[in-house]
Amino acid sequence: MENAQGNAPSKIGRRSFLKLAAIGAGIGAASAFTAGKSLRAASAEEIKNPFPGSKRVKTICSICSAGCGIIAEVQNGVWVRQDVAQDHPISQGSHCCKGIDQIDLIKSKQRVKFPLKKVNGEWKRITWDQAVDEISAKMLKLRAENGPDVAMFLGSAKFNLQQAYYFRKFTAMWGTNNIDHVARV
Ligand code: SF4
Repeated sequence: MENAQGNAPSKIGRRSFLKLAAIGAGIGAASAFTAGKSLRAASAEEIKNPFPGSKRVKTICSICSAGCGIIAEVQNGVWVRQDVAQDHPISQGSHCCKGIDQIDLIKSKQRVKFPLKKVNGEWKRITWDQAVDEISAKMLKLRAENGPDVAMFLGSAKFNLQQAYYFRKFTAMWGTNNIDHVARV
């Protein structure tokens, strides 16, 4: 009798099949590693210091404007490891859950480093000038057609005091009181 997928039942049991699959996967992985000689035991020195020649640089987390202290370990110009800055006068050796992950935010392959525009379903790189020109033209068209209350401006926790001041000024210049903070704190 066939099962729901239309296959004839196997002669080996489910448990035996899983055991065989695990053994097969193990042999396959071991052969791949030994053939390429890509695995070896780390030396005692590498365990002690996996990034030889690296420098510890004092910096700050840029996710929000609290500016908590971070020690960035840098090797050959690449940020390789993160530590908390115990002696930072504000954060005093602590981070929030976002700051502890700052290095992964920087190294993420999904990080957008320049403006992109979707053209015929494909993301194309454009210049900052083109991005600002096109966005501002669309905003002005919306305001001309619907009035200034067509827009709502949401500030960011990234803003420092001065940036928040300019953001408020910009919203007033636009002509609306629709302004708030993303977190509403
Ligand atoms: S995101 Fe967190 S760790 Fe980073 S500055 Fe703000 S409070 Fe500090």
